[in-house]
Amino acid sequence: MSETAPPVTMDTIVSLCRRRGFVFPSSEIYGGLGSTYDYGHYGVLTKNNIRSLWFRAMVQERDDIVALDSAIILNPRVWEASGHVAGFTDPLVDCRTCKLRFRADQLELARCGRKPSKRPGETPDCDLTEPRQFNLMFETQVGALQDESSTAFLRPETAQGIFINFKNVAQLARRKPPFGIAQVGKSFRNEITPGNFLFRVREFEQMEMEFFVPPADATQWFDYWLDQRLGWHRSLGLREINLRVREHDEGERSHYSSATSDIEYLYPIGWQELEGVANRGDYDLTQHTQHSGTKLEWIDPDGNRYTPHVIEPAVSIERIFVALLCDAYHEEIVGDRERVVLRLHPQVAPVKAAILPLVPRDDGMATRARTLYEELRRHHVVEHDDSGQIGRRYRRQDEIGTPWAFTVDDQTLEDETVTVRDRDSLAQERLPIGGVREWLDDALQRDCS
Ligand code: ATP
Repeated sequence: MSETAPPVTMDTIVSLCRRRGFVFPSSEIYGGLGSTYDYGHYGVLTKNNIRSLWFRAMVQERDDIVALDSAIILNPRVWEASGHVAGFTDPLVDCRTCKLRFRADQLELARCGRKPSKRPGETPDCDLTEPRQFNLMFETQVGALQDESSTAFLRPETAQGIFINFKNVAQLARRKPPFGIAQVGKSFRNEITPGNFLFRVREFEQMEMEFFVPPADATQWFDYWLDQRLGWHRSLGLREINLRVREHDEGERSHYSSATSDIEYLYPIGWQELEGVANRGDYDLTQHTQHSGTKLEWIDPDGNRYTPHVIEPAVSIERIFVALLCDAYHEEIVGDRERVVLRLHPQVAPVKAAILPLVPRDDGMATRARTLYEELRRHHVVEHDDSGQIGRRYRRQDEIGTPWAFTVDDQTLEDETVTVRDRDSLAQERLPIGGVREWLDDALQRDCS
């Protein structure tokens, strides 16, 4: 086996996702809606896996974190208190020549609308306006009356839904600092320049956890969470050389943050934020206490009151999805054939195994394959494929990252064994058909620890 291709490009990933039904442009029959995507079957399965692996690490396997699912549309005063109405903005410039809009702080990443395309501002023909602040929140109207009092926002982050429930959770879930509240759900940002496939979209699924700690312990917990989150990305199989931590300097940090570090991934567009870990101090609980009149504080058993400080790891499924596909994508020569293979971690792979009758019209093979498939699908996402030559069926599974294929062949009819083919090494071994279920359970367990 030898690698054939240079490092993967975003276009290659986009085309694989489309070809294999992971992700397609949304509203396509109406000409699309810039940088909006719909997930097909394998995309949904992959996203489900990412979400449940996050939930397992952040909630299920811990004593100190509980889950929450808050509303997407909150009382608009939440966003005044949090500072989003006044300050959740990006600087925007218009080009009077090509009529496009750009983020003033990311001009070096943008291309202008003329041919040949240039960096905005690169030539004197680019006629850019002065930057002005553009609020990224999507506005909507709640109820039948359409006036200022009915204006509300689609949440631009899930975190605020957590802060406003601090008191409920602390009391009802009987938690005391240090403890965390985790939430997964859609967030919406009217990004000025969405793009680079799913990397920057206007509608995305965030996975955020707010960890409430005694103020004196905040720095120690910040370091702890940065380390945990980096370890989690590695555990999904992202390669060490493609991950790094970048600390924000003072000028770059949000107004509420006393420390922020990004876990960055080397995407085809360069090093970019995969996940942010921030020390938000007592900013959010203090703001909501002031604006709502409800005290969001902690009283310890000795009667001492304090406002907990908050450490926040925040990431979107979309950015993980793109990083995992880029990391896993390989083109290689096997024998005299080229193959594309997604070397996804088995826990992330949308389909765990394929069950393939070598000769589908042979009743003995067809029946055994179908029975095996029906047994396995009760426990795992598996696929039965009996169309086309066996080589083509293997290649289809390689492209969607299926770690193992079980083939029912002539020998199965003689001794009730099947071949198991390993996606990465291409090694094949024989197993009793009755032992396949246990073999697959063990293989998935092995790759999980
Ligand atoms: P960026 O600087 O890239 O715009 P940000 O610093 O504004 O990101 P945060 O507000 O820290 O991002 O959001 C937390 C996480 O949510 C990010 O680390 C990223 O994983 C994800 N995220 C933010 N904006 C988007 C988006 N438009 N599309 C997809 N994921 C996003």
